[in-house]
Amino acid sequence: MARIGFIGLGNMGLPMAANLVKAGHAVAGFDVVKPLTGKLSAIGGLAAETIAMACGGADAIITMLPAGEHVRNVYCASAGVIGAAGAGALLIDSSTIDVATARDVAARATEKGLAMVDAPVSGGVAGAQAGTLTFMVGGPDAAFARARPILEAMGKTVVHAGGSGNGQAAKICNNMILGVSMIAVSEAFLLAEKLGLDAQRLFDVASKSSGQCWSMTSYCPVPGPVPTSPANRDYQAGFTAAMMLKDLKLAQDAARAAQVVTPLGAAAAELYGLFASHGHAGEDFSGIVRFLRGA
Ligand code: NAD
Repeated sequence: MARIGFIGLGNMGLPMAANLVKAGHAVAGFDVVKPLTGKLSAIGGLAAETIAMACGGADAIITMLPAGEHVRNVYCASAGVIGAAGAGALLIDSSTIDVATARDVAARATEKGLAMVDAPVSGGVAGAQAGTLTFMVGGPDAAFARARPILEAMGKTVVHAGGSGNGQAAKICNNMILGVSMIAVSEAFLLAEKLGLDAQRLFDVASKSSGQCWSMTSYCPVPGPVPTSPANRDYQAGFTAAMMLKDLKLAQDAARAAQVVTPLGAAAAELYGLFASHGHAGEDFSGIVRFLRGA
């Protein structure tokens, strides 16, 4: 049993913290939205009123926050995690943020003698609830070894992606593939439709051929071939277009900083930007197929 501070009890954080409670850990949670801490105490955790209260005496502190600016603020502010954590506490940031902020905050933690890993997730809210998330972890070997058993209480797959920031790098590279492949699969199904080729027939061929990919076989953007895909429930998310846009923008920021040419990643970011700005931000990202049909 470990004492864990958990900061950011939103759509992902609360079910993740709940799984830590279920695994027998003592979890003290903090969120700027006070009722969320009440939800944690209702299921056996402790409601902390400040970051310092969540961090006091904790063996590990986990954050699950919206974006890089929140992470920088929560860790580096004068009443933040780095100041409040006890000697020897392990810091785990599971938010999806830019690589540069992840590396900078980890360096500041290291300066204070604290071990830190970035550990963004894939699997969404359903994965957070079921405890089946995939964690992509960046940080030193020793910190990864300490983080692994804690992450295993919230996920099924835990991969060490290398040094600090590499968890974020793995996440945005994966999601750039996902955004591009979802558009590619959507375009193919739309072309098939116009050519008089039935969606199920295209699926039967392409799912067994070189066009096969996750966006088609697990998350097909047209109704029918994959019964569990959001296309069969009017594109209710799932993984929202807003989340996809966030990750594609992070990938583009990283590509610019690293001077890497990613024309398809750039086009995907632009298309998801248009899709989101036309009132579809809260829709599942596979709904881009309807947007492309109308575009
Ligand atoms: P969310 O907005 O539901 O939760 C974030 C929580 O952080 C909110 O409850 C908010 O009040 C809290 N917060 C903000 N600033 C704070 C502060 N200074 N101190 C304490 N709490 C603060 O977002 P989410 O859907 O839970 O996502 C969290 C992270 O996980 C994001 O980085 C997101 O990109 C990533 N992610 C989300 C999903 C998903 O499907 N929702 C999937 C994979 C990754």
